Amino acid sequence: MQRITILGATGSIGVSTLDVLARHPDKYEVYALSAHGRVDELAAQCAQFRPARAVVGSADAAARLALLLRERGIKTDVEYGEAALCDIASHSQTDTVMAAIVGAAGLAPTLAAARAGKKILLANKEALVMSGQLFMDAVQEHGATLLPIDSEHNAIFQSLPQSYARSPRGAGVSKILLTASGGPFLKRDVATLEHVTPDEACKHPNWEMGRKISVDSATMMNKGLEVIEAHWLFGAPASLIEVVIHPQSVIHSMVSYVDGSVIAELGNPDMRTPIANALAFPDRIESGVGQLDLTAIGTLHFEKPDFVRFPCLALAFEALQAGGTAPALLNAANEVAVAAFLDRRIGFRDIDRVIARVMHENEHGAASSIDAVMAQDARARRAATAIVDGIAR
Ligand code: NAD
Ligand code: MG
Repeated sequence: MQRITILGATGSIGVSTLDVLARHPDKYEVYALSAHGRVDELAAQCAQFRPARAVVGSADAAARLALLLRERGIKTDVEYGEAALCDIASHSQTDTVMAAIVGAAGLAPTLAAARAGKKILLANKEALVMSGQLFMDAVQEHGATLLPIDSEHNAIFQSLPQSYARSPRGAGVSKILLTASGGPFLKRDVATLEHVTPDEACKHPNWEMGRKISVDSATMMNKGLEVIEAHWLFGAPASLIEVVIHPQSVIHSMVSYVDGSVIAELGNPDMRTPIANALAFPDRIESGVGQLDLTAIGTLHFEKPDFVRFPCLALAFEALQAGGTAPALLNAANEVAVAAFLDRRIGFRDIDRVIARVMHENEHGAASSIDAVMAQDARARRAATAIVDGIAR
């Protein structure tokens, strides 16, 4: 029996994870669940999966959850706050941690899981983007296992040899081909992007996701974060990572080898496939995802990314090249700008303007410690908030 903690259980990835777990009660048991504020959903999940512990974001949310659970006679212990999140991610009673909190808020508990040597299913790409080398060092030092959930990285993971040791050259890898759908604005007139609404930006053609990552897909910052994620997961320099636009999202990514072979993972766009893959690795389990029918799809299309239409992609490559705390600066500015866009305080094109200004007007340094990364994150948030306030005034 694998005992699982899900950080971010009420989100899109959290719900898909519970869907897969419910299909295999003989293999998996839920140890703990977390949610930020969606207490009713979390209470329903506790009723179904009976975890030992549930963690929420505030004392008020904890009181509401405890009441709901008492009324239903459910004996899950209720806690709140970051220390409790770190504890359910590192406790001896759990083997596997699904890291599915969105944004920088997921860094501390995901790192706690790494330091406790857990099997980590990593969806929370922002945590790895921010802390890169420090996170990978913690995984190695404490014997943790890191399995990618992001569909592209899971596809790359499946397309590499099982013995792969973060050395592309050693494995004969010539390129990592990261596919991107291009999001909802791939073909829209660039001049009209100034005025698109949050709902238009969140209407992804292929994937159902949380609102933050949906906006990231519309700006293609998501692909930029994924380039940085791939760099750390697979030990590949930026020059070996190529973004390929593939609007159907059937090929989830590819690895090109020196002998001319290209290995890809294909499937229907449904996150339950990478989740099931990582949960059961190296075995295979059913995920609930239907079989791919290529004849129904007919044609697969590919094109080069347009860095003028999608300046966020260029900014992410720039942050990766700069190294140190530059990716933390990029990520924090993006989180602030996306939240302001979703609150309708700034326009869609202001997102890349805010990030570019934060990156070019602030210094970054060595990512020598998690404290240094968190200090950079805080400085970038302050700078981005000031710029947003200036635009929104
Ligand atoms: P979501 O918004 O649907 O869910 C986020 C979860 O995090 C929720 O359970 C929420 O309660 C929790 N949360 C939010 N803010 C928090 C905070 N400050 N402290 C603690 N918990 C908090 O997001 P999602 O789409 O499920 O994405 C989760 C992560 O997975 C993101 O990092 C995203 O980039 C990554 N990811 C998602 C998908 C997808 O298909 N949804 C695909 C690839 C990667
Ligand atoms: Mg992805």
